[in-house]
Amino acid sequence: MQAVFANADDEPAALERDAQVRQRLAAAGIALHTFKDSTVFARDEVLTQAGKPYSVFTPYSRSWLARVDEEDLRPHEVEPWAARLAARPEAFASELPSLEALGFERTNLRALQIAPGTAGAMELLQSFDSRMDRYDALRDFPAVKGPSYLGVHLRFGTVSIRHLVAQARRHAGSGAATWLKELVWREFYFQVLANFPQVGRGKSFRPEYDRIAWVQGDVAEERLAAWCEGRTGYPLVDAAMAQLNTTGYMHNRLRMVAASFLCKDLGIDWRLGERYFALKLNDYELASNNGGWQWASSSGCDAQPGSGSSIR
Ligand SMILES: Cc1cc2nc3c(=O)[nH]c(=O)nc-3n(C[C@H](O)[C@H](O)[C@H](O)COP(=O)(O)OP(=O)(O)OC[C@H]3O[C@@H](n4cnc5c(N)ncnc54)[C@H](O)[C@@H]3O)c2cc1C
Repeated sequence: MQAVFANADDEPAALERDAQVRQRLAAAGIALHTFKDSTVFARDEVLTQAGKPYSVFTPYSRSWLARVDEEDLRPHEVEPWAARLAARPEAFASELPSLEALGFERTNLRALQIAPGTAGAMELLQSFDSRMDRYDALRDFPAVKGPSYLGVHLRFGTVSIRHLVAQARRHAGSGAATWLKELVWREFYFQVLANFPQVGRGKSFRPEYDRIAWVQGDVAEERLAAWCEGRTGYPLVDAAMAQLNTTGYMHNRLRMVAASFLCKDLGIDWRLGERYFALKLNDYELASNNGGWQWASSSGCDAQPGSGSSIR
């Protein structure tokens, strides 16, 4: 074997893993090549005129949208190259390690109404395509089937971000433009995590916000437990947490409400909420989850509310 090819991942744990893998492979004389796949633009491809990373969404999205073209969205071909892959190593000749051997537990995704694989993603996309033009009107109502529910497929790589952006660009009108903007929020938070990696290590984007005195002790524990279990007494918050606890999904508007409520009304450190979402969300993504929590707690870049922050 001469080389290993993989897609890049900017989460701190993944960077550490890849550094170790690179070192071990190098010792065996094998190169590791990583490539951009999970985003349209990498961490250093959309920068300010001064060559610095953006920390405010609106100018970032303006640059992103001005820059993107058909070439960036061209599907990466797989078939022509598949035959060139190295043969499966001897040790795994008959079968690959099972999910259990890799430390995963089996779940019934169909019971959660998640259609798995690329076919499942295409089913969702087809259904969403017919309501994409009304996305901006429907997405504010959690009880309505407005969003795409594609987050879990983006998370597990069963749909391509390039495919989704191209699909949005095929539609005219404010519904598709709003949805495209959401996909750009995802790219924004990916580049924030990559360029300001301290946010992925438990730090506030704005360091002065790490000095907030959050509620501590038994009171904090009781409040956090009530929030996690959906028994705060505030129906919208409790419904949001029930949706999360029973389905592994929470509507975006409910994520905003539940997150703001935990830190701004109950006075609980946003990192505890971030951790609970990470545990429960099937579409959990460090960059977007951290970005959402730091936005809700106002500790992040382009946080709510305040002057200069971007409308969502
Ligand atoms: C506190 C909080 C935590 C969040 N945690 C996550 C998370 O762990 N993983 C995650 O993918 N998203 C997260 N989001 C963003 C957003 O709520 C979800 O992406 C969205 O609800 C997923 O549902 P959907 O696929 O139906 O979205 P749609 O509304 O159909 O949007 C399409 C896609 O755009 C992207 N997107 C939409 N809104 C956002 C946003 N605000 N920020 C970044 N990307 C966005 C997602 O990839 C999403 O799948 C969080 C938001 C908040 C406020």
